[in-house]
Amino acid sequence: MPDARSARATGSWTPDSRIALTSAAGPGFAVQWEEMARISFKRFRRYLGLADSPVEWSDRYFLADAPTDPPPPRQGPELDFARYSDRIGDLVPHGENLPAGATPFPGPVHRTSSMQFNVADYGHTLMADFLAMGGRVEHREFQTLGELATLKEKVVINCPGYGARALCRDESVVPLRGQIAWLIPQPEVNYGVFYKDVSMLSRRDGIVVQALWGGDMFGYGDDHEVIDRTEAERAVKTLAELYGRMSGG
Ligand SMILES: Cc1cc2nc3c(=O)[nH]c(=O)nc-3n(C[C@H](O)[C@H](O)[C@H](O)COP(=O)(O)OP(=O)(O)OC[C@H]3O[C@@H](n4cnc5c(N)ncnc54)[C@H](O)[C@@H]3O)c2cc1C
Repeated sequence: MPDARSARATGSWTPDSRIALTSAAGPGFAVQWEEMARISFKRFRRYLGLADSPVEWSDRYFLADAPTDPPPPRQGPELDFARYSDRIGDLVPHGENLPAGATPFPGPVHRTSSMQFNVADYGHTLMADFLAMGGRVEHREFQTLGELATLKEKVVINCPGYGARALCRDESVVPLRGQIAWLIPQPEVNYGVFYKDVSMLSRRDGIVVQALWGGDMFGYGDDHEVIDRTEAERAVKTLAELYGRMSGG
C-alpha cells in the first residue's frame, strides 16, 4: 500500500536491525529469528531479475573516515540491541576491507553486497499480483482486537505495524522515528554509502538519504511523524561534503 509506513522505508534487507533487545528476547527467539530470516531471504529472491527490478543486489561502502564534527547528543542510554547476522553468514556475501586508493572514496572502505528493494516497483508488483489473484482492498479501522472477530473471513493475518501498540494495548511496542530525504534518480549510481552516520542508497525510484546519528539509538522512543527539514538538509550536506572531496572541490 503506497500510504502505509512500509512505503517510506529505505529499502535495505536488514532482518535483525533493532529487532529486539538481547535482555528481553527470550531464549528461543534467536532460533525463531533465523528461521524467519531464511524464509524471508528465499521469498525475496523470487523477485530478482524481474523487468523493473523490484528487488536487486547492490554494493554498500562503509567509509572509515573519522567524523570531523562533534556528533549530536545521543537520545538516551545505549541499549543492548540483539545482533543475529552471524547466524545467516552463509546466506549473504562476506564483506571485504579495501585499502585507500582501491575505490574513488577517500581512505579505506569496507564493502559488502546487500539485497535492496526498489520500493515503488516492489509495492506495485505486490499489489498487481494481489489484484491479479482476485484480491480486493477494503479500508477499515479497528479500535480493538475483538473487532477482528466480526470479520467473515476464516483466516485473518493481522499486521498493523506500529498500530499494534494501540490495537493490542501493547506498550512494549516501541516507536523508532526516522525519515528519508530524496534526491532525483541517478541510474549510473548503483550502490549505497554509509558515511559519518548518514546512509545513502541509490534506488531506481530515487536516491534515499537517511540520518542515523548516534547509530541504533537514533529516533528510539520517538513517535513524531513531522518532517524535520534541518535533519534532511544536514544529511544531504554531509554527503555533498564527501562527494566534494572526491571531485577535489
Ligand atoms: C526512515 C525509515 C527507514 C527504514 N528503512 C528500513 C529498511 O531499509 N529495511 C527494513 O527492513 N526496515 C526499514 N524500516 C522499518 C520498516 O519501515 C518497518 O519495520 C516496516 O515498514 C513495518 O511494516 P509493517 O507491514 O509491519 O507495518 P506498516 O507498513 O506500518 O503497515 C501497517 C498497516 O496496518 C494499518 N493499521 C495499523 N493500525 C490499524 C488499525 N487499528 N486498524 C486498521 N489498520 C491499521 C496501517 O494503516 C498500515 O496500512 C525503516 C523505517 C523508517 C522510518
